[in-house]
Amino acid sequence: MTETTTPTKSMDDIMALCKRRGFVYQASEIYGGINGFWDYGPLGAMLKKNLRDAWWTDCVMTGCNGKLGPDGKPVRLVPVDTCIIQNPKVWEASGHVAGFNDPMVDCRESKSRYRADHLKLLRATGEDEGRMFAFIEGDTKGFETALKKLGKYVKRDLGEGDTEVLELVGVDAEVLERVVGPHASETGTLTEPRAFNLMFKTYIGATATEDDVAYLRPETAQGIFTNFKNVVDTMRVKVPFGIAQIGKAFRNEVTPRNFTFRSREFEQMEIEFFCHADDAEAWYAFWRDWRMEWWQSLGLDGDNLILREHDRDELAHYAKEGAGTSDVEYRFPFTAPGFGELEGVAHRTEFDLRQHQEHAKTKLEYFDHERGEIAPNGQPKGERYLPHVIEPSAGLDRGVLAILCEAYTRDESRPSPELMKFHPRLAPIKAGVFPLVKKDGMPEKAAQLHAELSKRFGAHGLIETDEKQSIGKRYARMDEAGCPYCFTIDGETLTDQTVTVRDRDTGSQERIGIDKVPDYLDGKLGL
Ligand code: ATP
Repeated sequence: MTETTTPTKSMDDIMALCKRRGFVYQASEIYGGINGFWDYGPLGAMLKKNLRDAWWTDCVMTGCNGKLGPDGKPVRLVPVDTCIIQNPKVWEASGHVAGFNDPMVDCRESKSRYRADHLKLLRATGEDEGRMFAFIEGDTKGFETALKKLGKYVKRDLGEGDTEVLELVGVDAEVLERVVGPHASETGTLTEPRAFNLMFKTYIGATATEDDVAYLRPETAQGIFTNFKNVVDTMRVKVPFGIAQIGKAFRNEVTPRNFTFRSREFEQMEIEFFCHADDAEAWYAFWRDWRMEWWQSLGLDGDNLILREHDRDELAHYAKEGAGTSDVEYRFPFTAPGFGELEGVAHRTEFDLRQHQEHAKTKLEYFDHERGEIAPNGQPKGERYLPHVIEPSAGLDRGVLAILCEAYTRDESRPSPELMKFHPRLAPIKAGVFPLVKKDGMPEKAAQLHAELSKRFGAHGLIETDEKQSIGKRYARMDEAGCPYCFTIDGETLTDQTVTVRDRDTGSQERIGIDKVPDYLDGKLGL
């Protein structure tokens, strides 16, 4: 955890602005709300769409914006759009049915999941305020590791009577902050025990018996794995390639909190990138670095964004020697000085395809014509294998929240001090067009320009127009909504066909020809 240098913004201020300006509302607000669910208002819906579109375009349609992969070739991705409800066997194979059934503790660092009642805490006798090391009950090696770590921490050899063991179940959140997980190196990465099954249950058909139980998906990834064979058979894709999906996921979180950060309904943007085991480490490094670059390109480019690589010897059960897991993390006002996960990039080996192959009793192996021994005819004989998977898994709502927090700015020198400094590409309102006053043909001219800009930029955001109040007040309203440019029609426009352009971030103004406005905006928005 690095020290914070940026003054922390107030989450209350950000939430108040989100409500006031139509970014985020509480779901079912007029009925008193519903915990863990949030609705997006007009500006929020547009902001979210812009972030979703940016991911879709940059990752999927242009294959990482045309960047070459570690094999020196273009990166190939194809999209799917799979159902929220799947055959319940999918969730048995993925481990969600069995694994989500008891109070569980997750390790944010190693991505391991433990039964809460299986975790014990080792500490030095009498050191009530000190660090504790978790281990899994019955795991002798794990216990020895915990003892060694504790010995290093207290800087002495620990014999019988020098240590004591506590149950994890029942300890306070504050105590958990001092615990190092069984496969972690830092303190405070274990979550509080969460009552699983985390999956929302529903019933299919009219009878609604236990035989009809189905689940709302807790992640979009499994719909990709179950369609791996279909995509290979129908799309002429060759490994290495990725399948991408954006969609809703549902988790019955025990403690939804921190605005939209931990919600019960949220949207994910996931890629499963399939490659040969020998290439997995290189592809993992490629995706880890590119995902970080991508978030930076959208304005999260300061020290609030970090890439945290998990320690190699503390990886999740499926992650093998050689590659690993990283998180792209953002310093939210409520996590500062710490960070919260925006996206995880994991080398999942062939774990998921193997699980589905076994549970569905369907071969999911890929036949690679370009590998294998060289036959007498000089051609490779081919190799049959289960591809390894690199999974960049991002939260769209968490992304929007990070963008909102990063954009929120207070500038006390302005008459209205709050403004949202969105990257122009993401801004929900792309431009404002205002007549200086409501007379002399100015409103008509503004309406014309407004119509022209709406036609050209409408797919990417709103073009606002407004005739009420002083121009300063109208600018302030646009600043608060994060609109990057305002064009004002005034007396001069009518004589020399120029307009004023005002820049949100600097407040500076310049004049340009009215006919130049669409191209000017195009250049600035970088769409
Ligand atoms: P956390 O440890 O915060 O619960 P996770 O590690 O379980 O997250 P993943 O299963 O890796 O999350 O999901 C991928 C992404 O989905 C996360 O990086 C996050 O952006 C998003 N996400 C997960 N759970 C939620 C949630 N309850 N609300 C909003 N977004 C979520």
